[in-house]
Amino acid sequence: MRRRVAIPLLIVQPTSFCNLDCRYCYVPNREVNDRLPGADLRLILENINLALGDEFELQWHAGEPLTAGKSFYRQANATIRAFEASRGVRVHQSLQTNGTLIDDEWCEIFNEFEIGIGVSIDGPQPLHDLNRRARSGRGTHQSVMRGIDLLRRHGRNPAALSVVTLETIRNAELWFNFFVDNGFDRLGFNIEEIENANFATSFGQSNTYDAQFRAFIEETFALYLRNQEKIDVREYRNVVQILQEIRKNKDFRRTPEEAKKGQISTVDRLGNVYPYSPEFAGIYAPAFNGFTIGNLKNDSLNDIFKSEAAARIDDAISRSVERCRSECAYFQLCGGVFFSNKFAEHGHLYGTETGTCRRSVKIMFDAVIGLLETQQLA
Ligand code: SF4
Repeated sequence: MRRRVAIPLLIVQPTSFCNLDCRYCYVPNREVNDRLPGADLRLILENINLALGDEFELQWHAGEPLTAGKSFYRQANATIRAFEASRGVRVHQSLQTNGTLIDDEWCEIFNEFEIGIGVSIDGPQPLHDLNRRARSGRGTHQSVMRGIDLLRRHGRNPAALSVVTLETIRNAELWFNFFVDNGFDRLGFNIEEIENANFATSFGQSNTYDAQFRAFIEETFALYLRNQEKIDVREYRNVVQILQEIRKNKDFRRTPEEAKKGQISTVDRLGNVYPYSPEFAGIYAPAFNGFTIGNLKNDSLNDIFKSEAAARIDDAISRSVERCRSECAYFQLCGGVFFSNKFAEHGHLYGTETGTCRRSVKIMFDAVIGLLETQQLA
């Protein structure tokens, strides 16, 4: 997950179950069809106290959150509103879905409960269906587009979230134009990465495809510049903002939300809390007790943040960032995050370059800066 948020983010996994089996999925236990009991959500909210301040975003996420069912969200919304009224806080709900289960009733729920919606879609059908498949092996593009169409009929144009694979970079223009031609006004993209339950990517482990990847960035960034009126591309907006900040202040250093203590927390259906990277949830990591720092059914978030387990992970994260600061020329642009990728690729948090940060930071900034200089647009 790569995002910039101004308010704390609490990611809640009401279930790890997913009705799909996408090739690059990092979520473990996605065949386990259990969900967070409504009574436990009440306990979890009560235990947040004011640790996240008086305003935060609660994002329903992975596996497929809609498989928890409509009655779950009706009950959850009532619990959240009661929590807001009793504590004087504001909770903004959002939900990331694969889009295949959306129907009219879901759209009414999203509107009534003011839930922001992001839909995962990888571009045109051939690119999407290559990886985003049902358990039967059938591609899901058609059903996702049907869901998006329903959302639009209910007045919602969801943000698109796409995974970029080797096949995507071979079809840069086709991929980018799909989103513009199909009326999406917001796009985020994650480059396929090794983390948690996903042990390999189409890019492999070497730098074989780096030149092709750079060409993809150059081509799609140029398309973005020409289409900014129509579509906001999260990654390119962030890159441009960072370069503008540095132009104003050469000492500017990026500090991603993911590196700030307490800014992003994930809670799974059992109440376990994971700090920093949501991709730590459910990870096999005995040395860090699976990156859990406590359980919100038993303890307050304030106490969990102060626990010994949290202190150990905070310390490891600080050392991870410090290592990047001292060794990487791109630290100013990056902030030294990519914690779950470091753990997956190096087996610990203290390594520096990963395939993900090479593509997401190093090549992306090099390509954009090179293009802006060539075009004298900087
Ligand atoms: S680009 Fe990679 S190695 Fe460099 S600071 Fe970021 S995470 Fe660390």
